[in-house]
Amino acid sequence: MSQVFYASLPDNPATDQQVAAVKKLITAIKLREMIVPDDFVAIKLHVGEANNTTHVKPELIKAIVDEAHSKSGNVFLTETSTLYKGERENAVKHLLHAHKHGFGIERIGAPFIMADGLTGNSEIEVAIDGIHDRTVKIAREIALADVLIVVSHPTGHLQTGLGACLKNLGMGLASRAGKLRQHSAIMPEVITARCRFCKKCLNWCPEAAIVESGQKGFILRDKCVGCGECLTVCRYDAIKYDWGTESKLLQQRMAEHAYGVVKGKEGKCVYLNVLVNMTGDCDCYDTDQSKIIPDLGILISKDPVAIDKATLDLTREANSKSLAEISYPELDPLHQLEHGVKLGMGSLEYELINVKSEK
Ligand code: SF4
Ligand code: SF4
Repeated sequence: MSQVFYASLPDNPATDQQVAAVKKLITAIKLREMIVPDDFVAIKLHVGEANNTTHVKPELIKAIVDEAHSKSGNVFLTETSTLYKGERENAVKHLLHAHKHGFGIERIGAPFIMADGLTGNSEIEVAIDGIHDRTVKIAREIALADVLIVVSHPTGHLQTGLGACLKNLGMGLASRAGKLRQHSAIMPEVITARCRFCKKCLNWCPEAAIVESGQKGFILRDKCVGCGECLTVCRYDAIKYDWGTESKLLQQRMAEHAYGVVKGKEGKCVYLNVLVNMTGDCDCYDTDQSKIIPDLGILISKDPVAIDKATLDLTREANSKSLAEISYPELDPLHQLEHGVKLGMGSLEYELINVKSEK
């Protein structure tokens, strides 16, 4: 059975309280013992899109950097470029934006190195024993890292129900091509009766796959890469896709990419889920969202499946519905977790170990 360590926090915890909890958790899981001198230690995070304020705070990342530095000087923060247009669409914009959100080297003490190069196509193809894919395309620098620390901010997610550790691994550390392969299951359509032809989706689509047809939006199937961005920007609920089958396939492919990311790093991966400021949509949204449930605390584990299961369980215990059930009740986030179990990445069974943190 996997172990998940939990440091509970009061609602609206101060940053100092969150940092104290992180320090206790990384001690509890013996992070130092996993690092040997000269290991390349990658810390995967999400700096939040332009107007997002609910992402994990830089101070928490600094606490992890400081601990990792006690064993190795080769510690770096890392991320990949997004498929959609925004402040994180390429390495240059992403790094400038990360600096703006407080993740600069002078504050954190570690450089930020984009794992997938300048434009998202620096990758390594990793062979996996998957059900949908036999190889997955992973951001190159992450494949070269020795130790991987993944810091996730659980939220609801429009396409997968839950966006937490498995999503941060599978989607967040895939190259552009790897992300596209995962999204290829999504084939949206415009519901013409609802379309007001505001043109927002036409302007937002990264592939110019939406055109005008009779004063309505129309999606060109041969150009659409299934990124789902049009679903997020349409304010009139005029774009649909088949949630049932397509979300399941997306989640399973995401788990397979997550498997490719951690392959070869057995015993060298640690996952933190920060259950603070949990919102209905992910930190990729360019808006300042409000949290939808009270804050709970921070989790750490060596099992990416168990930590996400614990996230669902703890949020359900506190609110009678899990974070995913509140955010997107039509989606079942267990698909990604169950697929992770099938691949041998982790377990749905876990022991929750309370680590005393300051109240
Ligand atoms: S965003 Fe929605 S309403 Fe606007 S053009 Fe696209 S489908 Fe139509
Ligand atoms: S039409 Fe396809 S490529 Fe364009 S935003 Fe929608 S899902 Fe993405």
